[in-house]
Order: sequence, then C-alpha cells, then structure tokens
Amino acid sequence: MKPWEANIRRVTPYVPGEQPKKSNMIKLNTNENPYGPSPAVKKAARDFDTELLRLYPDPSSELLVDALAMRYGLGRDQIFVGVGSDDVLAMSFLTFFNSGRPILFPDISYSFYSVWAELYRIPYERPALDGEFRIRKEDYYKENGGVVFPNPNAPTSLALGLADVEDIIAHNQESVVIVDEAYIDFGGESALGLLSKYENLLVVQTFSKSRSMAGLRIGFAMGNPALIKALNDVKYSFNSYTMNQTSLLLGTAAVEDEAYFQETVGKIKATRERAKERLRALGFVYPEPSANFIFVTRPGTDARTLFEALKEKDIYVRYFDAPRINQYLRVTVGTDGQMERLFEFLENYL
Ligand code: PMP
Repeated sequence: MKPWEANIRRVTPYVPGEQPKKSNMIKLNTNENPYGPSPAVKKAARDFDTELLRLYPDPSSELLVDALAMRYGLGRDQIFVGVGSDDVLAMSFLTFFNSGRPILFPDISYSFYSVWAELYRIPYERPALDGEFRIRKEDYYKENGGVVFPNPNAPTSLALGLADVEDIIAHNQESVVIVDEAYIDFGGESALGLLSKYENLLVVQTFSKSRSMAGLRIGFAMGNPALIKALNDVKYSFNSYTMNQTSLLLGTAAVEDEAYFQETVGKIKATRERAKERLRALGFVYPEPSANFIFVTRPGTDARTLFEALKEKDIYVRYFDAPRINQYLRVTVGTDGQMERLFEFLENYL
C-alpha cells in the first residue's frame, strides 16, 4: 500500500437501482412515477430563461420554500430544501445525530441510513421488524442518539399508524426523530400534524415520487424553526447553493399544480389496487402496500431467479440480496399498460 493510500477514507457505498437505457423496457425498479411532471413544469422548462444561469441561485431558495410553506400551511422558517431527500437526510444525520449514542432505525428499511451513519461515524442499532415486517414501537423506547424510519416503510411498503408514529416521537423527546415520508402521498397518514406538538420532529418528503421529478432532485424537511435553522447553518457550512435555478423554478411550478398532483397520485393508487388483485390471483403474497410499490413473494418461486427472468425480458424490478428479504421483489406501480406486460410475463412464467 502506498503511504497516501493509508489515509484514504474507505466507505461501502449505497447501491442505487439500475438505470438501464433501453427503449422498450418496463422499468419498475426505482419507484419512479410513470406519469411525468405536471404540464406546468413542462411549460416552466420551455419558458426557462437561460440568462438566469449566469447568476448564482438564491441561496435561501425562497421561491420554493414559500410555495411549500403555502402548500403545507407552515411558516417559511419551518422548511428546508435540498437536492433530493437523500441530501436532506444526509444533512440531517450530520446536523442532529451527534450525541455519541446509537441512533435507531429498523433492520429492514431504507438501506442508505446505515451508509450515512458509517460515513459520519454515527453508531447505530437496527431493531428488527416483527415477523410481518411491522415496526415494533416498543423497540424505540430505549435511550438513543436519534431515531429515523420511513413511513410508509421501504422496501416493505407498510405504513405505521399515526398513533404509533406519535408514540415513538413521544417516547423520544430528548432526541431528534426523523420520519422519512418519501411515499406518504400514496398512503398512510403524515406526521405533519404533529409538528406543532413536538419540537424534536422532522418530517422529510421528496419530489421524486408523487411529483414525478426524480431527475430534478428536490427534497424537503419540515420541522420546528430551531431544527430548520440548524440544518441551514450546516448547509451554509458545506455548500450555500445546493438548489440550482432550474430546480427552484420547476419545483415551484410543480407545487402549485395541486390538481395534477392529486390526479396522478390517484391513478397510481387505483393501479396499485388492481395490481394487488392480479398478483394475489397469481399466488403472490405481500404486506399491505401504502406506497407506489408492492413487496411481493411467492411460495415455491425463487425471487432471484424470477428477477433474472424478468430482466431477460427487459422488465426491471428490484431485488435485495439481504437477510429476511431475499425471497421478495419490490415492484414499482407503473401505468396499467406497464403492469399488464408484467402480468402477461408472470402468467407464462408461472
Ligand atoms: N427515502 C426513502 C425511503 C427512499 O426510498 C428514497 C428513494 N431512494 C429516498 C428517501 C430518497 O429519494 P430522493 O433522494 O430521490 O428524494
């Protein structure tokens, strides 16, 4: 080993889902939204004045923060925006999880949490979900340096009821509790209403799923002004200009088109209900889904083999080679047409 190599920071990175570039594929592997952004976003993109790119963007992201504040009935000092919720969550780990005590998150949940914890050298524990993949709230009663969990959970798609979410927050008022609501618009109840009651609660959401803008990279956190200020202080100590001019303008256009948002989220939920029936008829079982994906397993059918067979036909779903879930596939809900292609394949394959 060369002397300089000894001082390189070694990390095991998060592995994002594949982004294959095939024209006729059915892409149900990264929980993207098949409907695309609102027509208002398309118009804002067409009208975008590239002269604006000469200037630095507004570091406070006021336009977008104000649109979100209006949409969620909060003050602008209660909202923090970032480059996808990955950026917001990473910044939150850095800002809030500094006690030296282990932070807590479920053994089966968003696999990025342990990567950030390792990156920032935050100790962590992963209480096991129960046999039906439910979060056991009692596991979060012990002393900790912070709590984070997705609701609905990923990759299980199971939602935790608001009373249980509140119970976890109420038992942890000495640390920051982050509820990662990347998928909340598709089901489950948001913890947003609890913000006025708990100053240690941070709710994180994203434009990547329900607003169909994964490519633009916008996420946001909502919480007590003291938490938001702390996040901004860390952001300004890292990179003042996380949100580019295009994100600010197009993101704002998306938030303002509530009708399109409701319409497309409704379509995905309706397709999910139809997909559940078809999958059940084909012998699959799954935890009750509340997100834009279904976490399926089929007794007697090897998940990895099925995953490979689907891929062979350019149908992409997500497989996790991890304990307890290596016989499951996570299937994003696409359009009815895309789901039909999946079902046709499955009918033949099985
Ligand atoms: N949280 C969860 C639970 C997710 O599944 C994802 C998507 N990979 C994210 C956060 C991050 O999404 P984004 O950075 O696109 O907002």
